[in-house]
Amino acid sequence: MRTMLEFCTLGTGGTLPIPERALSSLYVRVNGRSLLIDCGEGTQVGIRKLGWGFRCLDGMLLTHYHGDHCTGLAGLLLSLEKAGRDEPFHIWGPKGLKRVVEGLCVIVPPLSFAVMLHELPAEGGEISLIGLNITAFPVDHGGIPCFGYRLELPRTAVFDPEKAEALGVPLQEWKRLQQGESVRVGLKKIRPEEVTGQARRGISLVFSTDTRPCETLAKHCGGADLLILEGMYGDEEKRPQALKNHHMLFAEAAAIAKEAGAGGLLLTHFSTSMEDPEAYLPEARNIFERTWAAKDGETVTMRYPEKEEKAWISLS
Ligand SMILES: [Zn+2]
Ligand SMILES: [Zn+2]
Repeated sequence: MRTMLEFCTLGTGGTLPIPERALSSLYVRVNGRSLLIDCGEGTQVGIRKLGWGFRCLDGMLLTHYHGDHCTGLAGLLLSLEKAGRDEPFHIWGPKGLKRVVEGLCVIVPPLSFAVMLHELPAEGGEISLIGLNITAFPVDHGGIPCFGYRLELPRTAVFDPEKAEALGVPLQEWKRLQQGESVRVGLKKIRPEEVTGQARRGISLVFSTDTRPCETLAKHCGGADLLILEGMYGDEEKRPQALKNHHMLFAEAAAIAKEAGAGGLLLTHFSTSMEDPEAYLPEARNIFERTWAAKDGETVTMRYPEKEEKAWISLS
């Protein structure tokens, strides 16, 4: 089985919830450990329906502090406590994190675990969690601090038996090198990277909502296997609202995906004014063919590519 990254779009609504659309939240799982991006109202219910659990959640990345992205936080912490968490839970976000979390948590009783807050500087930063290398980058949501996140699941380079032989590593030690350990050959120490070939592509996923198209977004979407971007409005006639409220149209997200050479585009964060987001897909697909509209509770599996250039993606 190839290592994989799975995620679930728990909430695909923007601004206000409607019965079939909870507010912004993404659940990401890698090798049994998980993280959340955003925690809008309805996140706890979404996780219960999904059945992937609370115990395995190690942290959360917040894009920004509009209510549709963080009002579920207090309740989520209670669910983590009820699930028996005693390890620290980490939360990253832009400037204002401490004030927002402390404010939301005035109704939360003392918890059985520590909540560690990591306020990132305006230019973003690097995060390491559940085996993912994560980059937070600033986007344009009308002057309030807002981050997009690029998640990379790295992949070890392939083992090269010829190099191992040339260095005189006995056959019985190969396995340890393949598992990433160093071995001793006589007086010499051989490190795993000395016996590997070319680096291999891992899996890359970008999540960014609540932004106008901007340079940092375009840059961090470059070559990603999958982009999860906001499609607040499908209809071109909503352009004035998109500009005023600092959101994106389907067509704008599709243009970013095309420009970035992405493997696919999953739209989310839909306006309540849009009853059926799928109705607007044909237009977006004229710009970027592999575009889909996310639904609450939908899961996606991404696997390391074998021969193909991009990661393998399967939507449930
Ligand atoms: Zn929003
Ligand atoms: Zn917002």
